[in-house]
Amino acid sequence: MNLDGRTALVTGASRGIGRAVALAFAGAGANVVINYVRNARAGQEVADEALRTGAPRVLLFQADVSRPEEAANLVQAGVDEFGRLDIVVNNAGITRDNLVMRMKDEDWDAVLNVNLKGAFNITRAVLRHMLKARYGRIVNISSVIGLRGNAGQANYAAAKAGLIGFTKSVAREVGSRNITVNAVAPGFILTEMTKELSQEVRDRMQAEIPLGRFGTADDVAAVVTFLGGEAAGYVTGQVIAVDGGMAI
Ligand code: NAP
Repeated sequence: MNLDGRTALVTGASRGIGRAVALAFAGAGANVVINYVRNARAGQEVADEALRTGAPRVLLFQADVSRPEEAANLVQAGVDEFGRLDIVVNNAGITRDNLVMRMKDEDWDAVLNVNLKGAFNITRAVLRHMLKARYGRIVNISSVIGLRGNAGQANYAAAKAGLIGFTKSVAREVGSRNITVNAVAPGFILTEMTKELSQEVRDRMQAEIPLGRFGTADDVAAVVTFLGGEAAGYVTGQVIAVDGGMAI
């Protein structure tokens, strides 16, 4: 894939799936905006690696995507630095798991605010520029949990299912301007988010995966870069599960 001359912004790119996505875009020759919220050192390491991997230029930017003004600043910084944002991946996400009856207001709000409102904040800010450019690729990272639910993750499932409705609606709003909006729904991917799960939960989940293994961040990045590239120009409003068949 050749993304020379394109610029990709990836939220939550200091670790896990976001890191793999940012490096995949870098490898295709795109300039990359790497966002993180707390982990500056990890963000810097991804930025350095992106340059080694092939990105002509990189911008590292701290912002909490759940805060509208910080999300707008992130987008503006990317536009100021590169003059354009062609590809945006709304990847930043958190979990605060508990059974609904025990879930605190702040855990519900935090998960909805980062996973769902964060994508809204970034998308609203970037669309102005994409509409003017009459070009854009937006990829929202949902989850298989948004498709099938999960006990103990009602907040996360609601946010990730909400992202799917958001994706389809925005795809309808901006399709006529050559902007595509799609969602990727990863299954069980080996990252820091999943490493705290007990062996028992892991064994149970692995038994449900037709391909018989957990996914890697690179498995997800491969599909995100396809949706972010020129070849996916006639694909919009879709949800592509990258889950080894978990959601079949
Ligand atoms: P991760 O390893 O926990 O990394 C999360 C990333 O999001 C980090 O870069 C973190 O930045 C950033 N972040 C968190 N809150 C943020 C905020 N308010 N503003 C900006 N950035 C923020 O997670 P992951 O497993 O790679 O997951 C990435 C995405 O894939 C998430 O949306 C997740 O829900 C989704 N997903 C993951 C799986 C899985 O199995 N891992 C499955 C389905 C979907 P800092 O490093 O600065 O904290």
